[in-house]
Amino acid sequence: MARIQQSAQPSDQRSARLMDGTGLARSIVASSAEAAADIRRRTGTSPCLATVLVGEDPASVTYVRMKRARCEKAGITSRHVALPASVGTAELVDTIGALSADPDVHGILLQHPVGPHIDERAAFEAIDPAKDVDGVTMHSFAAMGFGLPGFVSCTPGGIMRLLDAYDVDLTGKHAVVVGRSAILGKPAGLLLLGRDATVTYCHSRTTDLSAIVREADVLLAAVGRPRFIAGADIKPGAVVIDAGYNPGNVGDVDFDAARERASLITPVPGGVGPMTIAVLLAQTVEAAQRQLGLG
Ligand code: NAP
Repeated sequence: MARIQQSAQPSDQRSARLMDGTGLARSIVASSAEAAADIRRRTGTSPCLATVLVGEDPASVTYVRMKRARCEKAGITSRHVALPASVGTAELVDTIGALSADPDVHGILLQHPVGPHIDERAAFEAIDPAKDVDGVTMHSFAAMGFGLPGFVSCTPGGIMRLLDAYDVDLTGKHAVVVGRSAILGKPAGLLLLGRDATVTYCHSRTTDLSAIVREADVLLAAVGRPRFIAGADIKPGAVVIDAGYNPGNVGDVDFDAARERASLITPVPGGVGPMTIAVLLAQTVEAAQRQLGLG
C-alpha cells in the first residue's frame, strides 16, 4: 500500500499538514502501469476500460477524455462508445450488456448523468459486477456495505487510500460526513464505518450542522458549495477531507481558516480530486487480473 513519507513539521506549527493527493495518485497510477505491463507480458492482452458517453455535455466529454488519456498513458486500452443524447434506456442497456459480455473488455464506465429520459439505475445494473470498476452497481454497493470484496465508488475509495497513506487511525473516531450522495457521501460513510469510525451523516435537512461538525475528529465535506464549512467549526486537531470541487478551484471547506485548526487537510485542487481517476485505473487493472485468472 502506498504511504506518504513523513516530512518535517511545517514551520508554522499551527498549520495542518497537507495531504498530497497528487503525489499519492501518481504512485497509484505508476503501480497500475506496472501491473498492466505485467498482464501484457503474461497474457499478451492489455487491460481494457470501456467508456460509455451519452450526449455531448461539455463537462462529461472532458471527464471521459481525461480518463481515457490517463488509461492510455498507463498502458490500459480504452474503448469508447459515444451514443447520441436521444438514445433510449433499452438501447443503452443493450450496449452496456454487450460490453459486459465482451471478454476483451475488463472494466466499464458509464459517464453520468445520462439525461433525465433514461433510467440510469437500469443502465448501471447492466454492468457486470466483475467489470464495475466505477463501483456503481447495487451489487458493488451491497458488497461494500457487507465488507465483502468488490469495487468501490472511486472517490470514496480514493479518500480511504489517502487516509491510509497518512496513517490516520479511524477506530473509535467520530467521522462526520457532510453530504449523502450515492456516489460520494453515502459510500464514504459506509467505508468509514467499516473501519470502526463512529459515523454521522449530515445533509440539507440536518439541524444545527455546525454543532455536529465541531465534534468531528474526521470531517468529510461532500456538499458542492464553496467554503460551506467554516474554519471556526473545525475541531482542533481534526483530519479534514474536502471532496468539494467548485468553480474557481474552491473546495467545500474554508481552507485557510480550517488549516489553522486541523492536523491534516486536503488542498483543493490536489487533494481528493486526483485520487478518483487513480482508483479507476487501479480497479480496472485489478478487474483484468481477476478476469484473466491472474489475481
Ligand atoms: P450532490 O449529489 O449534489 O450531493 C450533495 C450533498 O450535499 C447532498 O447529500 C445534499 O443533501 C448535501 N447538501 C446540499 N446542501 C446542503 C446544506 N445546505 N447543508 C447540508 N448538506 C447539504 O453532490 P456530489 O456528487 O456528492 O458532490 C459533492 C461535491 O464533491 C461537489 O463539489 C462535487 O464537485 C465534488 N465531487 C468531487 C469528486 C472528485 O473526483 N474529486 C467526485 C465527485 C464529486 P441532500 O441529500 O439532503 O440533498
